[in-house]
Amino acid sequence: MYEDFRPRLTVDLGALRRNLKTVRQLRPQAELMPVVKADCYGLGAEQLLPVMMEEDCSTFFVAYPEEATVLRRVATTGVFYVFGAAPGTGPYNEHCRPLHYRADDLRAWSGGSCGVQIEIGMNRLGMRLDELEGLEPREDVKLVLAHMSDASDEHSARNEEQRTRFDEIVRGLQAKFPKAKFSLSSTGNLMLEGVRQEDAVRPGIGLYGASPGTQDPLEPIATLEARVLSVHDVPAGERVGYGGRWTAERPSVIATLGTGYADGLPRSLENSGKVWLGNGQRTIVGAVSMDLITVDVTDAPGVKVGEWAEIFGPNLAVDALAREAGTIGYELFTSIHGRTQRVYTSG
Ligand SMILES: *Cc1c(COP(=O)(O)O)cnc(C)c1O
Repeated sequence: MYEDFRPRLTVDLGALRRNLKTVRQLRPQAELMPVVKADCYGLGAEQLLPVMMEEDCSTFFVAYPEEATVLRRVATTGVFYVFGAAPGTGPYNEHCRPLHYRADDLRAWSGGSCGVQIEIGMNRLGMRLDELEGLEPREDVKLVLAHMSDASDEHSARNEEQRTRFDEIVRGLQAKFPKAKFSLSSTGNLMLEGVRQEDAVRPGIGLYGASPGTQDPLEPIATLEARVLSVHDVPAGERVGYGGRWTAERPSVIATLGTGYADGLPRSLENSGKVWLGNGQRTIVGAVSMDLITVDVTDAPGVKVGEWAEIFGPNLAVDALAREAGTIGYELFTSIHGRTQRVYTSG
């Protein structure tokens, strides 16, 4: 019998639905506008967007207009705002709106509804308030957003500073952009105490069940698993994997799993990362290969070929794996490779 041995991503659309409701309860006054860039952080926008629409979301954020073009086939009535808005009118229309970050682009703009990004401390994409001096009031600006630099750290003093700057922006621009909604919060600020009066919130990672930083995550929605391809004995003193960077100190049993750095598993997990297998945490031993990892299952005698090992999910938080690897859940999600099997459930 043939079995598919590729890694498997399972996304629980029911959990996504609950996270959408939870975020709404956190900020009932604000419109919920999910961030769906990079294919919903790698989890599959084609499947996740319809759930968001069913939960009454109609406005979304992407990084490039090309992403919006693809997603509109799924969300035909949706409005997409583009963070990395290239100047020019080419790809834009009422359903795909630029978020200008240069005052000159805004001054030259006559292509219909748009938004603007204002600088409050990130110095990445955003115009300064003084660049807008002298600008005539205009009704085509439907959204004004600012993005906090430190909201992943609930203890950062910059958070309050930047929230105060946002308040100044709201006061300073309401008359210039009378039709605009004002938006500050990504997931980080949504989960902090110091909320602000804002018309719209823009969470991404929180909806997908990982933490933006120091905050507790909402419900996990994604489980990544790999299959056991081999279980074999390794005598004491022998080495495992490329470069032999792990040596068996006792007679050992090694399980080889079908996942590696091509699937998004960081190489830094060599000799340290954990997977969930045989009802417990097992350590990755030796190097992470492109398609394979080796795991010490000496203490889990029942492990069999064909069994699934959890890379992250209900037993192993993606945030814990990310910490171990020196990265963040965002990067682990968006690194999941296209060859991964995908299963969507509604638990
Ligand atoms: C990606 C992004 C978000 C979403 O951030 P999360 O931390 O995933 O909630 C919001 N706003 C901007 C400008 C972004 O680039």
